[in-house]
Amino acid sequence: MSWDNVRGQAAAVKMLQGTLASGRASHAYLFTGPRGVGKTTAALVFAAGLLCPDRAAGDPCGRCEACRAVAAVRHPDVHRVEPDGDVIRIEQVRQVQRQAALRPVMGPYQVFLIEPAEAANEAAQNALLKVLEEPPGSTVFILIAHQTTPLLPTVLSRCVPVRFGRLPRDVAADILRERFGYGEAAELGAALGDGSIWQATRWTPEALKTRRAAALALWDALTAGPAAALEQAQAWHERRDELLEIMEMLELWLRDLLVCVEHPPGAAVDASWLVNVDQREELMRRAQGLRPDALLGALEAILAFRRQVQQNVSLRTAADVLFLDLAAHRAAAQKG
Ligand SMILES: [Zn+2]
Repeated sequence: MSWDNVRGQAAAVKMLQGTLASGRASHAYLFTGPRGVGKTTAALVFAAGLLCPDRAAGDPCGRCEACRAVAAVRHPDVHRVEPDGDVIRIEQVRQVQRQAALRPVMGPYQVFLIEPAEAANEAAQNALLKVLEEPPGSTVFILIAHQTTPLLPTVLSRCVPVRFGRLPRDVAADILRERFGYGEAAELGAALGDGSIWQATRWTPEALKTRRAAALALWDALTAGPAAALEQAQAWHERRDELLEIMEMLELWLRDLLVCVEHPPGAAVDASWLVNVDQREELMRRAQGLRPDALLGALEAILAFRRQVQQNVSLRTAADVLFLDLAAHRAAAQKG
């Protein structure tokens, strides 16, 4: 395990490497950022760096007993605190207090990983604050938080903040391909994951393809005119989340179509511009003769639908408008 395992987080990695290289770790760190962007991996590499006897500047060696034990989550000086049910309770923090008073078993520090820190209730946070205010000399606390609003300002102010951002799409796609076996569905997963591997892996590659097929079937059925479109809308009147997901898929498909439409005829579209990479031939075939303004109109209809749902417009009304609009743009796209 090394910093190479933490992808797309150059600023955070640089900062933590600098800390390790200086040999002066603070007592508490707060890793913040969306779920599924590498915070836990970074915390483990940082812990390995603190405990590795063969560390070279900011990098743990990755081979010694300490490094291997941290990677396997069995190092006796690394303590993980996770919610009991949904909550981290005061009893768990008291246990941390007792443990922190002891000497490390193997390395120079005891490292406590508290994840997600926002799961600590107020009593637990107040107890944690006491430990952070007077930390024993050889302890390092790493609080990992997906959101910081539930954390007490007094706790926040005791920690060195380390921020993790959403992953760039190409990095997320690489991770999905290399570590999760997404193959050709990696770009689609990365696009839907919005920079979070946790979000991207909500759907398996097979489920992604099934949903895309459903979105395309919906789009293709819209050629039968407004009455048929309204009938189609009815099927979705009770299926809010499902319809939002299908529309997300359709949106990505229409964007890819736009890329193909705008592309000079005769040349193949660069695959790196597409989300539905595996459907390049099909997209280029379908894009022939389509009108970009109508595709943009359809994309706007989807955006408007999403806004209406967020504003709690009745799903019945919003879906009817959506399907009528999409059918109109679908018909216009084919003309001329
Ligand atoms: Zn090592």
